[in-house]
Amino acid sequence: MEYRSQNLARGWIELSEDYQIVDLTLTLPRNPRSPYTPRDVASIRWIVLHHSAGPADQTPDSIARFHIETRGWSSIAYNYLIYEDGRILAARPLDVVPACVKGHNEESLCICFVGDFSARPPSPTAIAAGVWLTHLLRNAYMQIVGVRGHREMPDQATPCPGAAFDLVGYRAQAGMPA
Ligand SMILES: [Zn+2]
Repeated sequence: MEYRSQNLARGWIELSEDYQIVDLTLTLPRNPRSPYTPRDVASIRWIVLHHSAGPADQTPDSIARFHIETRGWSSIAYNYLIYEDGRILAARPLDVVPACVKGHNEESLCICFVGDFSARPPSPTAIAAGVWLTHLLRNAYMQIVGVRGHREMPDQATPCPGAAFDLVGYRAQAGMPA
């Protein structure tokens, strides 16, 4: 298999040619009143899955602006976005604290499936891209112990990533525990 290298978390990791990760970490809008808080990537324990709970075609820029202007956060909350067509976008660097699991951001790495999966699941293409990314991240950061839905993290009052998102099936495909 062919591999190429890409700098994602300001460290080099190997990517297969099956999928590409488009890096938006330096180009998405930022909040001038709320700088990023650095973290050591060694603190990451969980890959946490979300949905955006909005339109499937909402742009990364639009999500980032909502998080900045309405939530007051530093930038987009999530580390990665996955679209229904399988596109994977790096959104927030891994070496800063994300804003996606209240009380547990320091140990979380957040992947957001763009769309609302309350009543229907993500496309098989999106799930396959997510499972591929989950493998990649698990192999790059061996201290990661599991993959969970947002609602499965402690003290989270949310149905995220949507009632129709099959977390058990996702873990089975990823070969990872909760
Ligand atoms: Zn969520």
